Amino acid sequence: MPQHNHAPNRICPNCSGFAAVAIATGVRLRDGSRHTVPVTCPTCEGIGTVARPLATTAKAA
Ligand SMILES: [Zn+2]
Repeated sequence: MPQHNHAPNRICPNCSGFAAVAIATGVRLRDGSRHTVPVTCPTCEGIGTVARPLATTAKAA
């Protein structure tokens, strides 16, 4: 039988893998769409994963 031993998670503990988001500023553009600002996670710098020691030693939120 195959063994399913997955590698430990390397997902960033700060953003849980959602490394880049678009935040609405509250301003509407002429075409009616919302003006957004792209923001990346300061911990993983928009990658979504971190070095294994950082991910495995962080406490779960
Ligand atoms: Zn992150």
